[in-house]
Amino acid sequence: MTADDTEKQAEATQLPQPPAHKGTISKSGIILGPDGKPCRSCNSYRDMANMSRMLTGGKAKIASVPTASERADCPPDVEQLGRSTWNLLHTLTATYPPTPTPSQKSDMNNFITILSRIYPCWFCAEDFATWIKQPENTPQLDSQEDFGRWMCKAHNAVNKKLGKQEFDCNFWKERWKDGWKDGRCD
Ligand SMILES: Cc1cc2nc3c(=O)[nH]c(=O)nc-3n(C[C@H](O)[C@H](O)[C@H](O)COP(=O)(O)OP(=O)(O)OC[C@H]3O[C@@H](n4cnc5c(N)ncnc54)[C@H](O)[C@@H]3O)c2cc1C
Repeated sequence: MTADDTEKQAEATQLPQPPAHKGTISKSGIILGPDGKPCRSCNSYRDMANMSRMLTGGKAKIASVPTASERADCPPDVEQLGRSTWNLLHTLTATYPPTPTPSQKSDMNNFITILSRIYPCWFCAEDFATWIKQPENTPQLDSQEDFGRWMCKAHNAVNKKLGKQEFDCNFWKERWKDGWKDGRCD
């Protein structure tokens, strides 16, 4: 093996790999986990409730569907998990050093790569890993500003996929670090 091959092999091992916990999609469109059961962190609570209603021939009562606050101490669905994760990810950008050391950059790069493999919603993880593999989407970690804008771009890629409105990345710092200029976060 040449030095060039060794370098290529090292690079390959650093690329995001597909999630180890891949599941499947059922005929009804419900996402299943690797155990073949509906995956809570891959489906919305609404979709899971609709499926149970379908399976019971519409007998599950709408009135019996718990509200979001009643479900506050239940395992998270894909939406709750996503909101919590974005809270963490954007807050990481807000507290990232303005001029990071090589070791801080490397830690963050590893964290993002590992997240793209172990994120509990396996198809979200798969799409995220594919997205960060594209040369134009490589994590930008040279400064806090670069990282904040990169995370905003990553979140917008998911927003776009889900048909949601994109966020104006010029405001990433107000939203996630300093609070809005009208003072309502002070
Ligand atoms: C890596 C990852 C991949 C995901 N993939 C999927 C998927 O494939 N399918 C799926 O159904 N769900 C996925 N999700 C979850 C999804 O992104 C949402 O979190 C979920 O749908 C709840 O959306 P929401 O409308 O409450 O707000 P969220 O999208 O969770 O956003 C929370 C808040 O962040 C702010 N915000 C929104 N966009 C941006 C931005 N671009 N930059 C900065 N701030 C912003 C807004 O204030 C918003 O209220 C993923 C989550 C993550 C972390």
